[in-house]
Amino acid sequence: MITQHLHNNENDINTAGRILSGGGLVAIPTETVYGLAADALNGAAVADIFAAKGRPMDNPLIVHIAAFEDINRFSLVREIPDAAYTLAKAFWPGPLTIIMKKGKAIPDEVSAGLDTVAIRFPSHPVAQAVIRAAETPLAAPSANLSGSPSPTTAEHVMNDMDGRIDAVLDGGECAVGLESTVITLAADVPRVLRPGGVTVEQLREVLGEVEVDDAVLHQLAQGQTAASPGMKYKHYAPKANVILLKCSDDAYIDYVNKNAGTGVAALCCDEDIPLLRGVKTISLGRRLDYETQAHRLFDSLRRVDGYGGVLTVFSRLPSTDGVGLAVYNRLIRAAGFEVIDLDES
Ligand code: AMP
Ligand code: MG
Repeated sequence: MITQHLHNNENDINTAGRILSGGGLVAIPTETVYGLAADALNGAAVADIFAAKGRPMDNPLIVHIAAFEDINRFSLVREIPDAAYTLAKAFWPGPLTIIMKKGKAIPDEVSAGLDTVAIRFPSHPVAQAVIRAAETPLAAPSANLSGSPSPTTAEHVMNDMDGRIDAVLDGGECAVGLESTVITLAADVPRVLRPGGVTVEQLREVLGEVEVDDAVLHQLAQGQTAASPGMKYKHYAPKANVILLKCSDDAYIDYVNKNAGTGVAALCCDEDIPLLRGVKTISLGRRLDYETQAHRLFDSLRRVDGYGGVLTVFSRLPSTDGVGLAVYNRLIRAAGFEVIDLDES
């Protein structure tokens, strides 16, 4: 299959809409990462997403809409809880996914057999325009091969998906750079299943009590079921081995310099660069600038492999404050939960 390269203009957006309403696959830009979209109401088209990504069939997809009213218009949920109105008013359109009891229009392929469905109203104007052109909600996971870092540019998408999908619509670089925050309203107390651009602190401001699922910070024990199936996999990983160091800034510099050599890289901060010796440096941004760190994380993880010959990457364990929690959540998965605690040793 030849993957068409479409651009951000009316004609190409309509082409994307036609491919999607005809059951095809198009990667589209959103404010979080590029999504691999298909008609969410067409089970066969949705099944093709799993095949193109090599995604495990038990990992459900997010349904993207272009207006709050689409939820009822397309019978996406059984009922809309009060908290969903509150969240939508505060954060939609934007990087927040809301899980509710699923409606009758949702095929099993989307919800992976669960009785809930995840819904998001993205703020990216191109994403909204494509959904409107397709005249149907779009199921869209990140447009990467399963297990590799999520794509934040059309070039990343082509690296993984060229020849596997009908088209990619190039809308430039994604603003947030990490996937959406996922919150479930299907539990007794609203619970964050995946942190993202909307922070836990912001959610508590509008909803009051909000829990954070165990799987956000920790590896699930053997046999423990994941509330969000996507959280159980090693994920976002470059081919090189990512090792996280829990320590002070000074101890990080010391440790990396002592372990420097060919094949070693530091996923570090701007302030570290002049202090590190004999390693390749890839900076995520300034130490306290978590937004920039989020924005650059996936591109940096892909660049690690682009260097060639990098076998080990040392990074700090990020802070869990604000958007830092989302960076933390992705990095511990990229590291396969391998953390060296220098504070303890
Ligand atoms: P991705 O599209 O790659 O960003 O992945 C979507 C994420 O949302 C995965 O972590 C899924 O496990 C999660 N998700 C989607 N639908 C549901 C659902 N109904 N219940 C729980 N988690 C969900
Ligand atoms: Mg993904």
